[in-house]
Amino acid sequence: MIPFDFIYCRPSTLKEALDAYRQLQSEGKNPVYYAGGSEIITLCRAGEIRPGGVIDLKNIPECKALALDERALHIGSVCTLNQIKESKLFNLLRLACGRIADHTNQCRITLGGNLCGSIIYRETSLPLLISEAELTLFGPEGERRIAFDKVFKGRMELQPGELVLQIHIPSWALKARHYHVKKTQNEKIDYPLVSLAALWKENRLRIAVSGLCSHPFRSDQMEAVLNNRALSRDVRSKEAAAMLPLSPLSDRAGSGEYCRFVFQNTLHTLLEEMENGKI
Ligand SMILES: Cc1cc2nc3c(=O)[nH]c(=O)nc-3n(C[C@H](O)[C@H](O)[C@H](O)COP(=O)(O)OP(=O)(O)OC[C@H]3O[C@@H](n4cnc5c(N)ncnc54)[C@H](O)[C@@H]3O)c2cc1C
Repeated sequence: MIPFDFIYCRPSTLKEALDAYRQLQSEGKNPVYYAGGSEIITLCRAGEIRPGGVIDLKNIPECKALALDERALHIGSVCTLNQIKESKLFNLLRLACGRIADHTNQCRITLGGNLCGSIIYRETSLPLLISEAELTLFGPEGERRIAFDKVFKGRMELQPGELVLQIHIPSWALKARHYHVKKTQNEKIDYPLVSLAALWKENRLRIAVSGLCSHPFRSDQMEAVLNNRALSRDVRSKEAAAMLPLSPLSDRAGSGEYCRFVFQNTLHTLLEEMENGKI
């Protein structure tokens, strides 16, 4: 049960959503956009947030779109992880979605909610960080299209009242060589110790990582080392694992150094499989 009253709006257009946001904000109700609701409801129940109004985006046609054209795949922000999985249009994102929570929750959690949520893992960001993805955002200043990595710095940096409308993945990335692995402490369904997505463009490896540090990241420095074939796999994986942009987390399933060690082994396996033609 949510132990307080709030206003629930379900607009059918973007303008109605923004009008509702402005109205609720002007009344001091601290509104939030609502997608799958899995995080909002949990946080409301725990008393960690207390919005006076929620604006459900699931009736807005642009947010529900899932379309492919010759240039890109366009995914509406309220598409669920399961819809993305079943569409089979971008296999790397399909693999990432398939390792978040269980099937029941995947039918509820949305791509926009996973990117904008406060849970630090945001694993759907990994394929987007390495595929030159773009976002369409909508807010008080109108609509803007922006490179994903310009607005996602480990977490989404949205303007007040702004929402994620769609995610666009260029067509080259949909069929590119790719790899995904998620390591958890015990269970298949768990938060990641290390979650890694890899994609190759023009024979060059790109990687993005979650679970290891306080937010997901992509590192040019790490990629430069991993792509330096003059070095052995042992040296590349060890040097890359030493280049974390932040300290590894040490408060959950293992010490920071253990998580770094798992990461180093993960990189070694990736290089081995790549160089043995298994990927
Ligand atoms: C059992 C379980 C296991 C999980 N395991 C993992 C895991 O291993 N890895 C992982 O990454 N995550 C995991 N999660 C977290 C889950 O991904 C989040 O709960 C999810 O990200 C929330 O998505 P939602 O669509 O329900 O968002 P909501 O709860 O609706 O919203 C979450 C936040 O995002 C904002 N928001 C939503 N949509 C938009 C939008 N279009 N524009 C702007 N803001 C928006 C909301 O205002 C809110 O602040 C797990 C969750 C559950 C329930």
